[in-house]
This record gives sequence, C-alpha cells and structure tokens, in this order.
Amino acid sequence: MTVHDQQKASNTASTEIPDTPHLTILGAGTMGQGIAYVAVLAGFEVTLLDASADAVGRGVARVDQLLINGVSRGKITTEQQMIAASRLTSSTTLDRAVAEADLVVEAVPEQLPLKQQLFTQLDAHAPSHTVFATNTSSLSISAIASVVRSPERVIGMHFFNPVHVMKLVELVRGEQTSDDTVARARRYGERLGKTAIVVRDTPGFATSRLGIVLGLEAMRMLEQGVASAEDIDRAMELGYNHPIGPLKLTDVVGLDVRLAVADHLHATLHDATYVAPAILRRLVAEGKLGQKSGEGFYRWPART
Ligand code: NAD
Repeated sequence: MTVHDQQKASNTASTEIPDTPHLTILGAGTMGQGIAYVAVLAGFEVTLLDASADAVGRGVARVDQLLINGVSRGKITTEQQMIAASRLTSSTTLDRAVAEADLVVEAVPEQLPLKQQLFTQLDAHAPSHTVFATNTSSLSISAIASVVRSPERVIGMHFFNPVHVMKLVELVRGEQTSDDTVARARRYGERLGKTAIVVRDTPGFATSRLGIVLGLEAMRMLEQGVASAEDIDRAMELGYNHPIGPLKLTDVVGLDVRLAVADHLHATLHDATYVAPAILRRLVAEGKLGQKSGEGFYRWPART
C-alpha cells in the first residue's frame, strides 16, 4: 500500500467519501460521456478512459460540448464551465488511469468477458479502498465480481441516459457486495445528484427487466402493423404520461444495447417475453443503432 493509498483508506474509513473524489470511467461512449459530464459539475476529478485515442477524444469533446450547452441554456456560468472542464482528463492506459481512483465506473459494451477482463486489470492496479462499480444494464454483478480478489467492493451503479437528466441510480448488490460498499456507492450517487434504489442481483434488476418488456412489445406491434412508430410512442406519451415513447427511448438508449439486454434476459429468465423481435436484429445488423448512429426507429440530426 502506498502512502497515498493509506491516506485515502483512512479518509474513506467506513462510509465516508473524499471531499474531492477521483472518479475513473472505463468507456467513453454514450454513458461514459454522460457520467463524466455530471461528475465534473459535481466536483469530482474525472479520468475518462477508452480503448482508443479517437474514442476518448470524442468523449472529451462531447463533455466539453455538454458544458457549452449548459452555459447557453443558462444552467451554469462560464466560470463553472471552465472549472468543470479543467477537472476532466483522458487516458487510454488503464493501470495509470485507476491508480488514484476512489470510484471506478465501468461503462464498456454489454459483454461479460469484456467487463471481466477490465475488472481483472482493475483489481491489479486500483488502490485497496476503491469502489468498483459497473454500469451494466443487465449482467450479473456477482459474475463480474467473480474475477476480483475482493468481490465485496464490487457493485452495480446503473445510471440512465441522458445521465444529466435522469434522476435515478440503481444500485445493484452482488452476492458478496458489502454494506460499506452499498453505503459509499449511495453517497457517490447522491453527490452526483441522483436518488438511489437498491436492488438484488437478478437478471435485468428492476429497471431493465420492466423497461425492456414495453420496448420489445412496441417493436412487435410495429412489425405487425398495429400503428406507426410515432403513434405507438404517442400512445404511451399522451395516454400514460410517459415522458418518451418506448421506440424513441430505444433509439436514445441504443438498439445494440437493448438487443444485448433482451438476449441476456431471454437466456437467463427463459421467458419468451424477452425474445428480441426480428426488426431489432435487422436494424442492429444494418448499423442503425438509434440516436448515436443517426438512425434507428427514427432519423436523428447530428448532435450539438
Ligand atoms: P457505447 O457503445 O456507447 O460505449 C462503449 C464504449 O466502450 C465505447 O466508446 C468503446 O470504444 C469503449 N470500449 C470498448 N472496449 C473497451 C475497452 N476494452 N476498454 C475501454 N473502453 C472500451 O455503450 P453505452 O451505451 O455507453 O453502454 C455502456 C454500458 O452502459 C453497457 O453496459 C450498457 O448496457 C450500459 N448502459 C447503457 C445505457 C444506455 O442508455 N446506452 C443506459 C444504462 C446502462
């Protein structure tokens, strides 16, 4: 244990979190960017990591753009924008990126072997007090935690897209997650402005398991010609007061992300409710991933 490590460990004894926590985010895609934006505004020092320099460059540019948008909308001042931007650094080297992390949030694609590979590396290089969180939408926290030496420090911290708008963080407790880890993850979530719920590690947790049912059924209705995508979405928006319809939400989340979740829930819950409709597979195979690729169930303008 280094001196820095010892200091941090004593500062973060029990459920305390540091005044200026260091957050390292693994994966600079849709969710990594959103979490980074919220975190720099909340006073975290943030390292955003991706496998490639191009991807991490796009991630940092997106956070900078979100900060500029925040100023244009009158949400933050130019001074807050500059301070927040200065808290963000980028990396493509995991061992250095996690060396001083108090909290790591992994947000790479929804594939268990990939997440396990990163957690193995994380385990080798992060300080002993670091909370290891995964933003997985559906995979087992216990399975991800199985590759590290201290599975009690692994937890699901499931954020929602767009992160700066959605108020929930779903904390998912693996079989061996400690009370201390749950308490600290709750504090980190609150510091990021989120309200936490705690859910047992079951396929799809509370949010994905319920949310995907509506999304998949809306796709089946579209396939069967029940109504247009716009009208299916309006049915839920105006008839049930959902802020966004299930097809538009799928575009925002990413069709590839929702397909991975559906396949995982079908494989684990063995229930035909979760079989992915052909239209979802076809659109993903065509590279129509929703808002991030410019087309999904809808066409999307380039983001500003
Ligand atoms: P994304 O495809 O937008 O981004 C993933 C990023 O991870 C990419 O930039 C990719 O280059 C990077 N990456 C891939 N391999 C890597 C590696 N070995 N090391 C470092 N970076 C690597 O995905 P996303 O939508 O941000 O989803 C990320 C996670 O968050 C998934 O587990 C997903 O299920 C979950 N999630 C997504 C949403 C959503 O609305 N998109 C919501 C909640 C949770």
